[in-house]
Amino acid sequence: MQFTMLASGSKGNCSLIDDGQSSFLIDGGISPRTLETFLKISGFTSKRIQGLVLTHTHGDHWNPRFLAYCAEKKIPWYLHKSHARSIYNQIPDFKVFYDSGLVHFYTPHTIFETIAGWQWLPLNISHDSEETFGFRLDIKNGNNPDISIGYLADLGVWDKDLAVKFAGLDLLALEFNHDEKLQKESKRPPFLIERIMGDEGHLSNDQAVAFLEYLKNMGVDNLPKQLVQIHLSEQCNTPEHARASLKSFLEDASFFMKVQTAHSKKGTSTINLLQRNLFAFAEHIEDKP
Ligand SMILES: [Zn+2]
Ligand SMILES: [Zn+2]
Repeated sequence: MQFTMLASGSKGNCSLIDDGQSSFLIDGGISPRTLETFLKISGFTSKRIQGLVLTHTHGDHWNPRFLAYCAEKKIPWYLHKSHARSIYNQIPDFKVFYDSGLVHFYTPHTIFETIAGWQWLPLNISHDSEETFGFRLDIKNGNNPDISIGYLADLGVWDKDLAVKFAGLDLLALEFNHDEKLQKESKRPPFLIERIMGDEGHLSNDQAVAFLEYLKNMGVDNLPKQLVQIHLSEQCNTPEHARASLKSFLEDASFFMKVQTAHSKKGTSTINLLQRNLFAFAEHIEDKP
């Protein structure tokens, strides 16, 4: 079971989850060539991809070329009805995709199953698009332990009801969009700064850490075993700032959490979810002087 972020940020978002036989995508805001290159390097083909789950329709999460690629490869999309309206308004050809039976609608706060055993829970999040969703994915994995993954990007605020849904994950991909100081001191126009820092904008590093603090206060077992910092702003954040925001949080010796930071164009390397205990063990050893 693997998770790979192929790209992350305002220029494009796409991640791929693979169980060893089948893959699923979250968002398709990249070029088909980027995906094809990844598949080639991994020894996979597009036939392995069973579908795409869409969070919202901002241009960094889907694009017409990627939709055309999915139409050609017969890769179905799982989305909300408001997304279909928005895409259709931009590309009337979306009707052809819809008529081919490649569009499936999900309902907020209602679990839907894609591949057998892959259960997705779409959760409304606060963002200035039409309805926008984060996901909790629970995968019943045959004889192997169950795996749970959370995906949370493009949200201005979080609340306790949302946080509890992301308790006890194997992996959480969480937005660390901006450093608040860099944002306020940036040369961006005030209306843009206000939008990004507003309740329907993007999560700052400090807001993301507060989210993790909340899970920890519920009991350390509620923290994800692995964290991926995603959707970093290129202008108002750096991987160093995103990492530094976690420093004091990670100094707590009562838990182990492996952290990766997604690069906007390169994403992350492939993260193996079944070796979670080995990771924790390795880190534990490395931590010793
Ligand atoms: Zn975005
Ligand atoms: Zn967005």
